[in-house]
Amino acid sequence: RAKSEGRGTYRFFEAEMDALHQARRNLEVALRVALDRGELELFYQPLVNTAHHEISGFEALLRWNHPQRGIVSPLEFIPVAEELGLIKNIGRWVLHQACAEAAGWPEAVKIAVNLSSIQFRNHDLVADVASALKTSGLAPDRLELEITESLLLQDNASVLATLHQLRKLGVSISMDDFGTGYSSLSYLQKFPFDKIKIDQSFIQRLAEQDSVSIVRAVISLGKSLGMSVLAEGVETAEQLKVLQAEGCWDIQGYLVSPPKPALDTMGLIDRYCVTTTA
Ligand code: C2E
Ligand code: MG
Ligand code: MG
Ligand code: MG
Repeated sequence: RAKSEGRGTYRFFEAEMDALHQARRNLEVALRVALDRGELELFYQPLVNTAHHEISGFEALLRWNHPQRGIVSPLEFIPVAEELGLIKNIGRWVLHQACAEAAGWPEAVKIAVNLSSIQFRNHDLVADVASALKTSGLAPDRLELEITESLLLQDNASVLATLHQLRKLGVSISMDDFGTGYSSLSYLQKFPFDKIKIDQSFIQRLAEQDSVSIVRAVISLGKSLGMSVLAEGVETAEQLKVLQAEGCWDIQGYLVSPPKPALDTMGLIDRYCVTTTA
């Protein structure tokens, strides 16, 4: 009896695995055509300077409007796009789309675009960024490229060379999700980032003194290295109060606004006073 039960369980497990594999295969097939079918869309989340009550920019966040499943999170499909080698084309589309959108905003408003580590293995990255700027007419100093610590884990001279080439175009480079990767401090020495984005996991624990201490240290580190510091994932007024008390005035998070479709950006800009540089 036990034996047959065991077999039954195994068969059940096998069927589950088949279903998982099939779901993954379906996702891959659908993702291969998503870009051509116009199913990818950028949402935009404001980056706010709370000292001036101003939107300083927006981060472009990719969404996939899957015909059957509805909106799929980038956390689910970007790793798949990376594995399938689709991230090169998708990343190029994101750059062009985001720069074109931002070109229509007031000049003081910047656009932040996430780059995948895989895009740095593509020798066209610098050319892709240059082309997105040229086609859109966006001033290079309005484009911020966000990279994560995993990129620098590759400890690759060519990654550093590419970062320097990008910087030469006049764009700025932000370290995203700071504090979640490995040996963050040595990376800050390897490359002079323009901005550090403190990962939301630290912000969400700001009620704990340990997190306050870490955030305080990162703010002070950023300041002494000449990098600006922004707090990600700010959801409550209490978190904002702590951050401001520590001298961090640049934030992003649901407290201000979740990521929104492109159509909503002008409304958000109007709600905050944006200093226009004439
Ligand atoms: P990220 O670059 O760190 O983006 C911030 C994420 O935090 C976004 O998730 C955003 O919706 C979420 N978020 C913002 N404010 C809050 C908040 O107050 N509370 C909470 N709980 N979450 C908040 P999203 O849009 O799901 O994107 C997830 C990640 O996917 C991004 O993390 C980024 O690593 C990646 N990603 C998104 N778009 C792109 C893209 O165009 N290219 C690449 N390579 N990666 C992208
Ligand atoms: Mg980001
Ligand atoms: Mg982040
Ligand atoms: Mg993140």
